[in-house]
Amino acid sequence: MTTNSGSGNRLKIAIQKSGRLYDDSIKLLKDCGIDIKNGVNKLKAEAENFPLEVYFLRDDDIPQYVEDRVADIGIVGENVLYEKQKQTTLVEKLGFSKCRLSVAINKGDSYNGPAYLQNKIIATSYPVLVNDFLKKNNITAEIHEISGSVEIAPGIGLSDAIVDLVSSGSTLFMNGLKEVETVLKSEAVLVRNNELDAEKLKLLEKLLFRIRAVRKAKNNKYILLNAPNANLEKICSLLPGMRSPTVLPLAEQGWSSVHSVLSENEFWEIIEQLKDAGAEGILVIPIEKMIG
Ligand code: ATP
Ligand code: MG
Repeated sequence: MTTNSGSGNRLKIAIQKSGRLYDDSIKLLKDCGIDIKNGVNKLKAEAENFPLEVYFLRDDDIPQYVEDRVADIGIVGENVLYEKQKQTTLVEKLGFSKCRLSVAINKGDSYNGPAYLQNKIIATSYPVLVNDFLKKNNITAEIHEISGSVEIAPGIGLSDAIVDLVSSGSTLFMNGLKEVETVLKSEAVLVRNNELDAEKLKLLEKLLFRIRAVRKAKNNKYILLNAPNANLEKICSLLPGMRSPTVLPLAEQGWSSVHSVLSENEFWEIIEQLKDAGAEGILVIPIEKMIG
């Protein structure tokens, strides 16, 4: 199943139609320089400046569509990907829609590990993942599958515990529950059909190159500062840069301007050390794309 359009094949990507994955999926494509015009309730849209066709679907259906090659690639949460157990290949983790699939029990109960669940009733929308978890821990329990509002199940006497997605935990708290164990850590991922032809793989590589440049840029900042020449060596040693920092003389004798790239993780700590080493006029600028 391939669509030819003028210059050749288009890569078909499935993304969530609406919901928690939608905004970040569209934004990622946009940051990759791919504009999509999607009218309300449209199933399909074509990118203007990349050979890409976008299908808007329920997230639950995305693994199946990718397995069947209705879509060549898709963006979906790991939780859905592993629950559905379809034949696809994980290409790249995307770093958004992070959440946990967790066991939660009544706030007042004490938890002694997975053994707590022995012979209990567990409500969940993820029976496959819960079953795996129980097996791995040698626990026998009854799984009660429900498709939504899982957090109310213990309160209405439907179950003793739940396994559901959690990000902040506030939904659990409001329902008198507490999170006691993580079954799976999840984020949005890019998956592909297992048998893409060479041409589609080439397009996928092109898209991936852009995705990686965008993600790398997001995790880094461009930094400019003024340094007294006497401390240049110390300051440069704190700033590795992409290869090494750029050092330019200032008009004022004895001072230099230092330019470099800093990763978000070590940012605040290094800024402190730079100040201690006599750096002044520190400017920090977001990077749009980062290559190499
Ligand atoms: P659809 O109508 O497409 O089936 P949905 O209601 O199943 O949508 P959403 O609630 O939009 O799904 O969540 C989509 C995905 O976002 C989840 O599968 C999960 O990977 C991720 N996610 C991130 N944070 C959370 C959270 N706090 N609760 C639920 N899902 C989250
Ligand atoms: Mg869904």
